[in-house]
Amino acid sequence: MHATEPVVRVRELRKVYALGETTVRALDGIDLDIARGEFIAVMGPSGSGKSTFMQIAGLLDNPTSGEYRFEGADVAHLDPDARADIRSRRLGFVFQAYNLLPRTNALENVELPMVYAGVPAAERREIALAKMRIVGVDHLALHNPNQMSGGQQQRVAIARSLVNNPGLILADEPTGALDSKTSLDVMHIFKALNDEEGITIMLVTHEPDIAAHAKRIVTFRDGHIVDDRENAERAA
Ligand code: ADP
Ligand code: MG
Repeated sequence: MHATEPVVRVRELRKVYALGETTVRALDGIDLDIARGEFIAVMGPSGSGKSTFMQIAGLLDNPTSGEYRFEGADVAHLDPDARADIRSRRLGFVFQAYNLLPRTNALENVELPMVYAGVPAAERREIALAKMRIVGVDHLALHNPNQMSGGQQQRVAIARSLVNNPGLILADEPTGALDSKTSLDVMHIFKALNDEEGITIMLVTHEPDIAAHAKRIVTFRDGHIVDDRENAERAA
């Protein structure tokens, strides 16, 4: 990919769901570029298309129509295997519910994407521990999810999202299950990953306090982008 090529470039992106006799235009013509090193918060009311957009941006689903280039490649019409391949190599995901495997310790959870990517075991361990150190959970390596707080589990999930050095991290309501102090801790981690590691982040939230940590805030409504602005406080 060319250095100036956006990580994400979408044009006229549409996603239409058929519901019996009616159709839902979950995305109704989205144009958006995300450059390397950006930290974007996606806001908007429930049902405005945020999760649908994250799923398509994250190659979990294809759009109905429109253009999507990820790291310069046309990815709008890939089959599920091709999408899975790019996901495992180039994308990191963080979910509201952490999505850690139960009865599996933190280290093994963080190693998992590298198992799929075919990284040798010794290297996996080293990389996983390094990423856990960055987010401050290396001391929890042998703990299972049920032995960790919500904030600790989300940090482990963030470490897991980092192991394949993704071009983009997608986080859908990553603080939605956390109290406000823990949410702040998690946002400081995302901020540091963006500021210090240069990682490109797109995060969905409906909380203005959370969006305020991003450098750019994009607002969805009824499947459209209705606002797209620099976060003046953070850009300064
Ligand atoms: P948000 O994340 O902003 O709350 P969504 O992207 O989840 O919004 O949903 C956008 C619209 O698309 C809503 O009207 C929702 O009901 C509809 N929708 C989302 N997923 C599906 C689906 N799999 N089948 C039918 N309708 C869907
Ligand atoms: Mg949603």
